[in-house]
Amino acid sequence: MRCPNCGANILFDSQNQVFKCQYCGSIYAVDEPAAPSPLGQMTAKSKRTSAIIAISMAIVIFVTGLVAFLIMIYSSPQ
Ligand SMILES: [Zn+2]
Repeated sequence: MRCPNCGANILFDSQNQVFKCQYCGSIYAVDEPAAPSPLGQMTAKSKRTSAIIAISMAIVIFVTGLVAFLIMIYSSPQ
């Protein structure tokens, strides 16, 4: 089996149950050997993007909570 992206041999990655091109790093799903699609790099990117979004949202929620807490402290009569 050859990589449609670069033409190098694709090796089976038994750990991840996928075919992986050692040359360009493309990952191909086992269940679609007839029409392999280079989803590996895209999946890795979207995973990273969603992780960044999740972290950003956590920071926004944390800051919002912190600001609300500080407003509550400073606005309350001593
Ligand atoms: Zn390749």
